[in-house]
Amino acid sequence: MKFTVTILGSGAAKPTGERLSSAHVLNVHEHFFLIDCGEGAQISMMKHGIPIQKIDHIFISHLHGDHYFGLIGLLNTMHLLSRKNELHLYCFPELEKIISLQLTTSETQLTFKLKFHFLNNKKSEMIMENKYVSVISFPLKHRIPTCGFRFTEKKRSRNIKREFVLQHKIPVEWFPRILSGEDFIDEHGFIHKNEDIVRIQSVSRSYAYCSDTAFDETIIPAVKDVSMLYHEASFSDEHESVASQKFHSTSRQAAMIAMKANAGTLIIGHFSARYKNAGILTSQAKEIFENTIEAFDGLTVEVDS
Ligand SMILES: [Zn+2]
Repeated sequence: MKFTVTILGSGAAKPTGERLSSAHVLNVHEHFFLIDCGEGAQISMMKHGIPIQKIDHIFISHLHGDHYFGLIGLLNTMHLLSRKNELHLYCFPELEKIISLQLTTSETQLTFKLKFHFLNNKKSEMIMENKYVSVISFPLKHRIPTCGFRFTEKKRSRNIKREFVLQHKIPVEWFPRILSGEDFIDEHGFIHKNEDIVRIQSVSRSYAYCSDTAFDETIIPAVKDVSMLYHEASFSDEHESVASQKFHSTSRQAAMIAMKANAGTLIIGHFSARYKNAGILTSQAKEIFENTIEAFDGLTVEVDS
């Protein structure tokens, strides 16, 4: 089953020719979740084959422009495509006013319903849950209210192997017995071992997104043991004091969080435009946490358990 993340924008506040501002898309079993929506995100989605109309949930970490300036453009495109499905927006309350002003000024009546869900930057909480995934928001340490998000795949239940069901025409009354661990005895009295006929779920996978934050160990419990952690890494060691003044992190600090949280993989991004090449940021992170991936626009990574 699919669980991938695509980086639509890996740059910081000022986009460059190579890096757009923050936006990620998570594909969980072909359900698409957009996380932040910096300027140009919809163009990046088109370029990288993300089906815009399949996005039903958008998460905006905070209201610095590089994390949501692409939103009104995306909503307008969905409208022009005559979208009908309700769209859920998870954000701080001011965004509703901003969107509403933009829509009323252009006399746009969207073809679909926008449902707002407001974030709480005082504590972690579950903000969304469906059959496939649950999402928790948690506070980050930034200049304005900011939340990170953790997406956890729902553990899949035990399934009887389809080929076995077809081959042996198992009576329906046997289904719950087999799923509860019983061996199956066929009409000839032959015993089929439970472990041979049941497919066990894999361990659930998870992805955490820390958009903009100063180095802050209090976020560790929220990202503990996550399969893949994205943590901003705007600066290198050389600019550590700039990072702390601006409530951002260095790549080494991102790696410290990944290590202390026992993350499986770390993706770093949100690179300041001052770095023509992010190699120095990646090598500094790798000194602490070897399994570090340097984000670039268009990168798609499979999240492993
Ligand atoms: Zn910010």
